[in-house]
Order: sequence, then C-alpha cells, then structure tokens
Amino acid sequence: MRKDIMKRLLAQFSIVTTSVPAIGLAIALTLNATAYAEPGHTFTPLTETERQAIRAAIPAQARARPARPRRVLILYRTEGYVHACIPFANEALKQLGETTGAYSAAVSEDLDALSERSLTRYDAVVFNNTTHLSLTPAQREALLAFVRAGKGLVGIHAASDSFYTWPEGQSLLGGIFNSHPWTADDTVAVKLEDRESPLTAAFGGHGFWVKDEIYQIDGPYSRTHVHVLLSLDMSRPENARPRDQLVRDDNDFPIAWIKREGNGRVFYTSLGHNPEIYRTPQILQHYLDGIQFALGDLRADATPSAKLKQQPSAAPAPESSTVVID
Ligand SMILES: [Zn+2]
Repeated sequence: MRKDIMKRLLAQFSIVTTSVPAIGLAIALTLNATAYAEPGHTFTPLTETERQAIRAAIPAQARARPARPRRVLILYRTEGYVHACIPFANEALKQLGETTGAYSAAVSEDLDALSERSLTRYDAVVFNNTTHLSLTPAQREALLAFVRAGKGLVGIHAASDSFYTWPEGQSLLGGIFNSHPWTADDTVAVKLEDRESPLTAAFGGHGFWVKDEIYQIDGPYSRTHVHVLLSLDMSRPENARPRDQLVRDDNDFPIAWIKREGNGRVFYTSLGHNPEIYRTPQILQHYLDGIQFALGDLRADATPSAKLKQQPSAAPAPESSTVVID
C-alpha cells in the first residue's frame, strides 16, 4: 500500500518537474499528498447512471425484520490509501438499509463520531474502506465498549488496513491486512466455507468467481477466533501465487468471517475494492446480511471455525470461471 502511494507520488513528481517551476511543484506535491494520504479527500460525486445501477442491485427485502428501528454509522475516514470505490460504497451501504427498512444510516469521515457520547446514537458502525486510523485512547475504548455491550461492528475491504497501531482493534476485527497478491484485475475462485450460514445464502449454495482485489490477512487472524464464511478456493490453480508473495504457510486465505466480541457481533468481508462490486446483487445481499447479523437482527452461528464439533458443509468454486462480476 505505502509503496503504491510512493510510486504514484514519484510518478507525479517526475511529470511535475518537467512542467512547472519550483513553487508550483511544491503546491502540486502538497495537493497530491493530500489526495492520497490524508483525510478530507474530495470524491467526484456519483452520476445519476451510477446511482441507478446501485439502486437496481439493492435487494427488495432484508432477510430479517429488524427487532426495532436500527441506526448505523458508516465511517469512511482514510489516513492512508484512499479507495476510489468509497462513494459507491457509501451510497450502496446507505441504500441497503433505507430501501429495505433494515436500518437508517449516517455517513461520516469524522473520527469524533466514535466518541462514547456519539456512539450511543448507533446500533452498529460500518468501517467503509477506512485506512491507517489514528484513534485516540478514548475513541478506542469507546468503540471496544460499544461492541462488547452488545452492538455491532462491520468492516468492508480496507477496514482491515486501519488498526496498525492498535493490537486490540486488530483482534476486535479478527485480523489485519498484509498484502494483496490477488489484484483488482484478477478474477478469483471463492469457496463458501459454510453454505448453511444465512450470511452466505446470497450466493445460492455455490462457490463463485469474482473480479476483485483480495487481501492476504495476517496478525491475530485465526480460525480459533473467527467463523469463516468465504475463503479463496486454493484447489483452483488460478488462485496460486508465487511463494515469495505469500506470508501465510497454511494456505488459509479468508475473505469473510463473523465473530462474537463480548455481547456484540463483528462481520468482516474483504470484498469491495472495485466500484463494480457495489452494483452486484449477490455481494450487496451479502453485505446486508452481514450488517443485519452485526445489528443482532439476523441470527447466525458464529462459533469459531476451529471449535466447531462438525465442520459445516463447504461449496467449492465451480470449475468454469462463471464470473459474478465483470
Ligand atoms: Zn483495495
């Protein structure tokens, strides 16, 4: 990730040096650095066509009826890499709740929204592609207490790229980003690890292929802590990567999982790099189901995978690359 940013900045530097004088160069570099490495990034608003494509992919109904009106905070703060998909995700995540009646949503990039007082307004927090967050000790404590008291936490894609300096936060989410040997242009084979879970029901009981950037998860990630829902189907040769790109030696590359944290619930999925993901009905249903689980409205077995007496039935990816997303 950081290498990525440096590369972009260096590329921009070389273009700028040949075209503008020194003062202009300094300004251009400052602006570029702001765009890629700090909060306050201005996104191009979605076009009406893009909004319509998202709306057309929203499920008509939520899988569970909310026990009471639910309120969700969608946080998209970035202090590292800024994903271009963020406005698409904000729109889709808001629409998912409001169209189906599952929840109403507030969208913010302000870390003050994580204060103890602010959190009392919400039933779950969704980290939409947040990166390298510098939470204050009070914000960390408030978020942990919020979840442990029975509320929900949801992480979409780069949410696992957020808590480098906060080991407890890494455990709360269930793991941390290491790298992405599977890039945004790759089409990968995905296995349902638990085809009985309502959180994989969106995929109709079958594994699938998807074009998206897939993370290699590291840190505290362990099947003794999380219930894995989706993983890379490593029986497919297309998913193999050179050994020097992999830090895991157990060939376990999880994509989505759930876990309990005190009285609360956590759902994470690394799907969600490409903007097209947010207009794909199956993935949007998967997000909505995960959010409803985090809210406590959709029940699902969150027993850590390694602690299950009987392993759930899995569904491998189909042999032909039937691509869910093009
Ligand atoms: Zn990404």
